Amino acid sequence: MTAYPTLLSPITLGPLTLPNRVVMGSMHTGLEETGDWGRLAAFYAARARGGAGLIVTGGMAPNREGAVFPGAAGLFTAQDIANHRRVTDAVHDAGGRIAMQILHAGRYAYGPDCVAPSAIRSPISPHTPRALDEAGIEAQIDAIATAAARAREAGYDGVEVMGSEGYFLNQFVVTRTNRRTDRWGGPWENRMRLPVQVVARVRAALGAGGLLIYRLSLIDLVPDGSTWDEVLDLARAVRAAGADVLNSGIGWHEARVPTIATSVPRAAFSDLAGRLRAAVGGPVIASNRINTPAVAERLLAGGQADLVSLARPFLADADFVAKAARGRADLIAPCIACNQACLDHTFSGRLTSCLVNPRACHETELTLPPAAASRRVAVVGAGPAGLATAIAAAGRGHLVTLFEQAGQIGGQLTLAARVPGKEEFRGLLDWFAAMLAETRVDLRLSTAPDPADLAGFDAVVVATGVAPRDPGLTVDPGAPRPLSYAEVLEGAPVGPRVAVVGAGGIGFDLAEFLTHHGPSPAEHPDLWRREWGVGDPATDRGGLAAAGPRPEPPARQVWLLQRRAEKPGRRLGRTTGWIHRASLAARGVQMLGGVTYRAVTPQGLRIATTQGETLIPADSVVICAGQTPRRDLADRLAAAGLAHHIIGGADVAAELDAKRAIDQGVRLAARL
Ligand code: NAP
Ligand code: SF4
Repeated sequence: MTAYPTLLSPITLGPLTLPNRVVMGSMHTGLEETGDWGRLAAFYAARARGGAGLIVTGGMAPNREGAVFPGAAGLFTAQDIANHRRVTDAVHDAGGRIAMQILHAGRYAYGPDCVAPSAIRSPISPHTPRALDEAGIEAQIDAIATAAARAREAGYDGVEVMGSEGYFLNQFVVTRTNRRTDRWGGPWENRMRLPVQVVARVRAALGAGGLLIYRLSLIDLVPDGSTWDEVLDLARAVRAAGADVLNSGIGWHEARVPTIATSVPRAAFSDLAGRLRAAVGGPVIASNRINTPAVAERLLAGGQADLVSLARPFLADADFVAKAARGRADLIAPCIACNQACLDHTFSGRLTSCLVNPRACHETELTLPPAAASRRVAVVGAGPAGLATAIAAAGRGHLVTLFEQAGQIGGQLTLAARVPGKEEFRGLLDWFAAMLAETRVDLRLSTAPDPADLAGFDAVVVATGVAPRDPGLTVDPGAPRPLSYAEVLEGAPVGPRVAVVGAGGIGFDLAEFLTHHGPSPAEHPDLWRREWGVGDPATDRGGLAAAGPRPEPPARQVWLLQRRAEKPGRRLGRTTGWIHRASLAARGVQMLGGVTYRAVTPQGLRIATTQGETLIPADSVVICAGQTPRRDLADRLAAAGLAHHIIGGADVAAELDAKRAIDQGVRLAARL
């Protein structure tokens, strides 16, 4: 008897019967533009083998002007169709089903030729779109329908029409972006005309045998967005025009409300899918921040949706469904919603991968085959680098002993897990623990081996991590000793007014930790909605609460400081930095760049800026000034003439994050 009876039950969608309710949602991988279609095929085939009920590809451009960026992939030529055929064949050979997403970006297209209902530039693009005339609109409809026909030629089981997230079709629906006065703008029935016509034409192009998913914006999260009545009206109309199933779109890309970041509660928006389903009937797909089979089962069994869409979790683990079906959800590598190796890569033109699973999109290049001969491998340090090496090496058949000086595994991850909004890191720690047991790693906690203890191993891996950097601030007599971030996260008391020295990722995390009190909004959707001003689209147009954001009052007064003369937080994650900055600003954190630290005094922290010298009246000073490598063991091994590998922070501490640590660990394990 499975714990996920609904999740694992079949469902028929139009012409297609799926073996389970799990859709792998659309994600751009970057492989689409490399020309290496074998690699893209391997990526999707692995997810099909892993049990995904239906795969939806990354968005494909219907024409040049609708492409997300110049040169983005689409089905334009016979060669394109042949390339896509490799993907669909690989998925079908693996027993899967795959639909192609058609994505017309409208004013979000990052190029000077972009088009839209009206010539209104998006706040996240430098390009003002050209307003389409009647013939131009017809050309776009035709391009989308043609893309659907070509998708069928290429072997896709159907298409998803992207109608949400503020893209082209969504832009016609709302007055924020549609100021037209012809039959495509103005009153509601005119604004909904384009998506409905597109769906009808795509249906005709597909024929009865092709699945048609329409991704509908359930909550725009921008001013002048849709009302709930409009959402329902459009849902009924696109279904009548030929959509087999409605997928949930949440928030425009330009919205100032996070929708998929780690601090967003799990399944935060699924109630909207449930309300849609109750009003217009199924099948409906719920999406956003669904990352475990248990959460998915709860939604499905509770009638909130007929299917769930998980995108990033399929980067973290290709075998999500297969492991759930085997009753081993504990072995599913969790997506922690960090965006660090997926969306942050996508938006900086790099190939997508996954912090937790560096093999994602590298399936053909980073392989972990069984080792030719089993070796005795010692790994010292059970932070992310050591853990990743240990489980990957043991998975290949090596006999791995993992030494950890502390009484628990995790290293820096255990600190991250204490930060409000980073609760997902706990799941990552649990997964590492389950994988250590599964791969039979011999874990020795509270053990710091000497070189002599390591002499008998065939390979020694030093993953001893980092120590917080002490910047050597001047501390006047009688002043409190500055604390390290690690001490504070581990529970050292701090006063009501705190100066944080260093505004990197950890400084921001620390400021978040210090300004919170009570339950974490990431685990309490009502608190979270209040914090970000998320309302009910039934009463608040676009789902933005009339009262605006109402965060809890801060627990402390915090100053976040850095020496570099730039806005603190500029170098945070590409897709998440704004969330951290906005969250701290809402808690009244004062962020200062261009600071020179003079001294910690009994009255506070004396600093100098271009405005002169000033005293920050802090009761406590916390240091978040980066890290230095912990290399004593490596030095002693070198002195003893014992060969060893150094990875993670022990190797290079600067700009170390879990992504680099895990990647380095897995790549080393592949070579052992
Ligand atoms: P970091 O990002 O390198 O930031 C260190 C901060 O300390 C900087 O603001 C730096 O700014 C300051 N600093 C460096 N040397 C100093 C000195 N001698 N005296 C005073 N200030 C000094 O390091 P981190 O914050 O410790 O983070 C470590 C790694 O973890 C980073 O790679 C980070 O990206 C990653 N991380 C990521 C996240 C995430 O959410 N993605 C969260 C936490 C950590 P100035 O030199 O300008 O003062
Ligand atoms: Fe999830 Fe982070 Fe991996 Fe992206 S990089 S798939 S957000 S764990």
